[in-house]
Amino acid sequence: MTGSYQTLIERMKDIGRLSGVSQLLDWDQETYMPRGGVAARAEQSALLAGLIHERLVADETRRLLDDVTVHDDDFVAVTNVREARRVYERASRIPTELVKEIAHTSSLAKDAWGEARSRDEFARFSPWLIKLVALKRRVADLIGYETEPYDALMDEFEPGAKAAVLETIFAELREKTVALLQRIQASPRPPDDTILSQTFPEERQRVLSSRMAEAVGFDLARGRADVSAHPFCTTIGGPLDVRITTRYQERFLPSALFGTLHECGHALYEQGLPEGRRGEPIGEAVSLGIHESQSRLWENLVGRSRAFWKFHYSSLLELFPDTLYNVSLDDFYRAINKVKPSLIRVEADEVTYNLHIILRFELERALFRDRLSVEDLPSAWNEGMTQTVGVTPKRDADGCLQDIHWSMGAFGYFPTYTLGNLYAAQFFERAREDVPDLFDAIADNDHRPLLQWLRENIHQHGRRFRAGELVLRVTGRPLSCDSFVRYVTGKCADVYRW
Ligand code: ZN
Repeated sequence: MTGSYQTLIERMKDIGRLSGVSQLLDWDQETYMPRGGVAARAEQSALLAGLIHERLVADETRRLLDDVTVHDDDFVAVTNVREARRVYERASRIPTELVKEIAHTSSLAKDAWGEARSRDEFARFSPWLIKLVALKRRVADLIGYETEPYDALMDEFEPGAKAAVLETIFAELREKTVALLQRIQASPRPPDDTILSQTFPEERQRVLSSRMAEAVGFDLARGRADVSAHPFCTTIGGPLDVRITTRYQERFLPSALFGTLHECGHALYEQGLPEGRRGEPIGEAVSLGIHESQSRLWENLVGRSRAFWKFHYSSLLELFPDTLYNVSLDDFYRAINKVKPSLIRVEADEVTYNLHIILRFELERALFRDRLSVEDLPSAWNEGMTQTVGVTPKRDADGCLQDIHWSMGAFGYFPTYTLGNLYAAQFFERAREDVPDLFDAIADNDHRPLLQWLRENIHQHGRRFRAGELVLRVTGRPLSCDSFVRYVTGKCADVYRW
């Protein structure tokens, strides 16, 4: 190992520190910042993005990467250099001015999107979207790709992901989902989920959310929970400062309930990353798909299980006695697992959720292949929803304006959600083999065996393995939709009493 290595790592740590500051600004913008602050915040965010980028692509970084040598058997150093090189290679192809322009535009576009969504006026957002698509198209062209620009965009979130590969997995998933859905829709005894849309006072939902977060092991000494329009998890200082947000809807209990478990899943991953490697490239999460596997695992495979509610249902009855007095645990379990095509992705059930993602994947890919224009997006969205999910939005606010991602310029991000679902099912199947009494522990509100398994098999490695390699290593099989289809089919057989 050379002196260049230590200097390189310090440089990467500084870049990580600046990124933490940038995340803090974003977190603040989504939680507490007054709306009047948006113009100033856009300037601050753009300045920071520029500073981070300049430091990353500086000649000094290039020189350190050229000089550095590490021993092949030192996996920490090998991973650090590999990942430093990867981010450098990507960043060095993009001029700082373009990075700043994207940061500035997306900061303003986020505000315009919020306004457009609340007024249900796509025209307020479309000029921003046109601009962001053009900017990201430039990024894709500068980074380069073998077959299509979308690959270059996905690579930012899921290193190595290829649209053509996903297309095959998604096609199989779609076919199996549609078959399952047909069986569900023919079922004579669907669950009654109207019990979840009664009035659940926010104050009490907050108590419930805190209990859930504590139960699964979210460490509040190294994290905090707030409220925002679009729930998210962000990390300000590696595993030492991890923040989640929740959105409360008084007339829809699942939103905050499963939203909290979801963000806690992300937070548990961040809090479980190797603390001794904080700020080093190896100390980071593998990819957004792996990140999402952690959130979906806690939200769905744990949070929508019978075992979980065997313990927690009494808590729910205690908080909402008047609302749920005649609802049995079985009624509740069936209600939270009801499968029904719906308009909003974040509220979709586990089975139809992926159809929402497949649609976004197809639309984004079409946008970046110049087969779809932003002007035609609302109608393409509505047609796609009708064909793919089986429901048609009446308003763009419930259609193509529903998600924040495009206002952030985050194209190529959505596929990581379905990847997360598939990874989660595959991991969880393996965890159940390794820990045979896993559900007994969950039913006792003891989440340590599962968390321990995740820490050992996934979290502690940080970014040592790429997603595909990690899945193969942990489960012995490459990624497929098999575990997920087995899981949802089993769940539906229980819920729909086949
Ligand atoms: Zn998530």
